[in-house]
Amino acid sequence: MNPPESQKHMLSKSTFIRGLQCPKSLWLYKHHYKLRDIISLKQESIFVQGTNIGLLARQLFDGGIDASPPDNFNYLQSVNDTYKYINEEHEVIYEAAFQSKQVLAAIDLLVKRANKWYAFEVKSTTSVKKEHLIDAALQYFIITNCGIELSDFFIIHLNRKYKKNGYLDIHSLFTEKSVLSEILSLQVFIKDTIKQLLNCTQSDLMPSIGIGMHCYQPYPCDFLGTCWKQVPENSIFELCGRGGFSIATELYKKGIKNFENLPEGLELDADQYKQIESYLTNTPIIEKEEIRSFFNSLSYPLHFLHIEEFSTAIPEYDNTSPYQHLPFQYSLLILQETGEIQKFSFISEFGKDPRIQFSSSLLFNIHKSGSIVVYDSNIMQVLKLLIGHFPEFANQLNEFTNRVVDASIPIKNKSYYNSLLKGGYDKNKVIPSFVPQYNYESCKKNFGLEAGQIFINISKQEDDKMKDEIKAKLVEYSNKEAEGIFIIWKGLKDITLN
Ligand code: SF4
Repeated sequence: MNPPESQKHMLSKSTFIRGLQCPKSLWLYKHHYKLRDIISLKQESIFVQGTNIGLLARQLFDGGIDASPPDNFNYLQSVNDTYKYINEEHEVIYEAAFQSKQVLAAIDLLVKRANKWYAFEVKSTTSVKKEHLIDAALQYFIITNCGIELSDFFIIHLNRKYKKNGYLDIHSLFTEKSVLSEILSLQVFIKDTIKQLLNCTQSDLMPSIGIGMHCYQPYPCDFLGTCWKQVPENSIFELCGRGGFSIATELYKKGIKNFENLPEGLELDADQYKQIESYLTNTPIIEKEEIRSFFNSLSYPLHFLHIEEFSTAIPEYDNTSPYQHLPFQYSLLILQETGEIQKFSFISEFGKDPRIQFSSSLLFNIHKSGSIVVYDSNIMQVLKLLIGHFPEFANQLNEFTNRVVDASIPIKNKSYYNSLLKGGYDKNKVIPSFVPQYNYESCKKNFGLEAGQIFINISKQEDDKMKDEIKAKLVEYSNKEAEGIFIIWKGLKDITLN
């Protein structure tokens, strides 16, 4: 084996991927690291989840030795340890790290079987994605350049068909796929890209790259706050519909930043024309007939229903799969034709499979007739899963599905549009367009995470007082969501009466 490089690496797998997505992002990362946006709690919890899944997958190859660095600044130690463990003839090395041509690559599991080496990279997804192949191709390039001949390269990912039944069966939870042929065909590309990206990091000049879709795909860039700060309020990036973002990017490149300066003869779809006209004339779109016919499909008592779900990569309860959505909370506001209102809310106990409590409570509180009004909700999928899980409730739950009406439809169709919606139909923006003083957003901002993620995080805490406080806040938040659907319904109904 070649002796390890003694200089700190210039590129790692993550900076390589960053540079591939946008060389300017790589350059900013190397030269102006402090300009990075603050990492959100949501992103942080995704990283933690990825790390936990990697640790769990080690059980597929028990008895290995760990070459992880003591911290993120000591990868050379990790490289040295890896060489040492290989020379000591360890057959399973976790986080084996290699460095070649100033590029560092660590692999989750390096395994020797019958004198041949195999690499395994663990992903927290339920399938192999295109971007995983690039990661793997880089890892293969570096490991083989360091003199380790790899007989195969596998991506291990979660098996979406796995259903927990009693203990967690690690060998059924994970599945593996060889990607060797795909990554072999990427080797020349990897070699050329390394050269370009090393040049980029060493240059004093920032690459001249404008904003566009690459700022969000395949990963949201953490320099959005720097590059997008020039984009004005009410910019053309609010253009709605399919292709709206691409049209906006092209216009922005030509210096057109808002709707006032759109060129003549620009080809747009009907909804985009409506949006622009509404903005330029400062007049909401109200297509009364369409909205009225939508409301004709509703029948009293009206049930305004908001549900919350959580999902975990590793199934916690029997008869659940990776990332299965589990409803744990709802708020329900029932309006009778007489104007009488009833309110109900439910939140599951911490640490228990919530499905039975959720289903029984909902079935108890929802009336035998009347529409169930939701807003852009996942409820149909949730009901389908509950029907599959509780055959005894199947008839009632099936009957519910026929009564569900999505109040976001007239807004998605642009039968109602107001410039405050900024091209979309986000409930956060729709509610204040009807009731500006409604304190809705602040309730959401308090959390910084999805309610489901908070519920899971809090379940694992010991402090009962804190748990009760958070639970009360979640109920308050969910009640506001259900009330928000009522406000949207009322707002739409009122404008058809004027
Ligand atoms: S925000 Fe966009 S243009 Fe700026 S560095 Fe990131 S990807 Fe590149």
